[in-house]
Amino acid sequence: MVTTIRLRPETKSRLDDIKTHPPRLGQNGTKVLYRIKDNHIVNNLRSENSAVLFMVQKDGFKPYHQGQTFLLPLSLEEFVPPNHSARIISAVVDKLDLTNLYNMYNTTVGQNAFDPQMLVKVLFYSTFEGIFSSREIENKLHTDTAYMYLAAMQKPTYRTISRFRTRFFDELVSLFEQIVMICQELGLVGLNHIAFDGSKVKANASPKKSMTKGELKRRIKKLLETAKMVDEEEDELFGTGSPFTIPEECADDPDLMKKIEELVSAYNRLVESGEKRINLTDEDANLMICKKSCLAAYNVQTAVDDKANLIVAVDLTTEETDYHQLIPMVEQVVKNTSSAPAVISADPGYATFDNYAFLKENGLYSLIPDSRHFVDTYGRPKYYPKSLFRYDPENDWYTCPAGRIMKFVGTQKNRKKQQLRLYRGNCAWCPLHLSCTTSSQRTITRHPQEGLKDEMRARLATPFGQKEYAKRITVAEAPFGNMKWNKRWTHISHRGKRKAKGECILHAIGHNLGVICRRVSVEQVQNLKSVKFLRILPRHQVNEGSSSSVFSCEGWYRRHLGGTHAESEHLRIRFGAQGWGGGVA
Ligand code: SF4
Repeated sequence: MVTTIRLRPETKSRLDDIKTHPPRLGQNGTKVLYRIKDNHIVNNLRSENSAVLFMVQKDGFKPYHQGQTFLLPLSLEEFVPPNHSARIISAVVDKLDLTNLYNMYNTTVGQNAFDPQMLVKVLFYSTFEGIFSSREIENKLHTDTAYMYLAAMQKPTYRTISRFRTRFFDELVSLFEQIVMICQELGLVGLNHIAFDGSKVKANASPKKSMTKGELKRRIKKLLETAKMVDEEEDELFGTGSPFTIPEECADDPDLMKKIEELVSAYNRLVESGEKRINLTDEDANLMICKKSCLAAYNVQTAVDDKANLIVAVDLTTEETDYHQLIPMVEQVVKNTSSAPAVISADPGYATFDNYAFLKENGLYSLIPDSRHFVDTYGRPKYYPKSLFRYDPENDWYTCPAGRIMKFVGTQKNRKKQQLRLYRGNCAWCPLHLSCTTSSQRTITRHPQEGLKDEMRARLATPFGQKEYAKRITVAEAPFGNMKWNKRWTHISHRGKRKAKGECILHAIGHNLGVICRRVSVEQVQNLKSVKFLRILPRHQVNEGSSSSVFSCEGWYRRHLGGTHAESEHLRIRFGAQGWGGGVA
């Protein structure tokens, strides 16, 4: 078989030279590898009437010839090594249910579109690699064999990639849930300990563009004054001449008027929303304190499983604090995993009585210290902390460090209009007075749900509670470290909460794909059933020893807490036959 290569014009002229003066074999320590025939390179050395083309191999070196062609066409399978991350990510995407994505296309008109499955693979792989720029992705599609393998040598432009990414942001919630499901099937989710955390990520907006109503009013007023001044200057310059004598562009400053219109519209939106501030660049971004500086940012929430540091729930909010994020996040964990976690931990930013009550009602074993817990437990406060005053629920009184009784004396409303109960005792001639209070009498306040806090503190004081809570920081912070430091996700590129949330979920998917790539092989993923089948089957049983994740949680409690923990009973009752997620019994 003879393989030919068509020559470029410049090569042809060189060939003519070589044909006229063919170099001898072995000249300059080189070997003849190719001959030509009728201006075509022929790799059949035995062909007749051929001339020497040029020398490509030097003595002592391997042949190097950039113009070389392959005898047989290359297969895409040869582009990446056997267990490469691109293969694993490709196998994961093959298992996903992309029906909703396909339904977004109108296939009856226009040109054929790029297959969304291919675009999803490329986007997931680029996020896994820490590449977010659509232009860089397009470049990779031309230069990186892993991208070529995933795209099957197709070359969508950066505009196509960017538009697709923006369009499919809404579908990412479902894709994230499916990937968590796949991770469960792969045994990467233990649900023994879920740690919750939040981190602020800078928005694509300047904090200087965040304004209150007053600031907006002042800015509008200033611009109107400028406009007025410009008008007066123009009047002075052109007099009161007719419009025919004054150029039209001088009669009005379009840029100035545009700015004023934008500010007025932002002011109206701020009044309608009832918020305190609005950012003119990204209306949804909120001013937040990040590392001692004030930034326009979003608050990213994650729930991380301790088995493989996998993100099992993710969300993005414009609220600066985490107080109201725990309940929706716990619900999302249960929805995504169809099971209740055995232990929940979070930092004091999540400590509210409402959260404590919710966790108790649902029988979830939680470790969330209140904001004063560490100061009271490990600090050296100047005066006796409240934790040293023992409450007696039967008699409704406190016993102070001096052993005196402090009785209920009245109520008082706090800032949230909640009634606090006040307790005082007889502090006269107390030897501990100077260490207890600066006033004549110490007063202890008690919230109606203070018992929940006492229970939490008691739980955190147990050896098991301390051991589990010590895990929190390494479990919860690891994904943020990976996304922000390793993958260089320093800020959100898109504007608006919808797109920012999509970007955030995409990064969480990138992190989870990294976990999958590190821990499982291509064959393991390929051997899984597709998500369409997984959805109709009972979920993978994450905890050992039972056919139900609920009862297995109970078993887990028994093993770790000696069968004495009352919350295992709460779990059984709450999640038994009709539990919100654990109903596979
Ligand atoms: S000052 Fe009052 S509350 Fe404090 S230790 Fe003495 S008696 Fe008890």
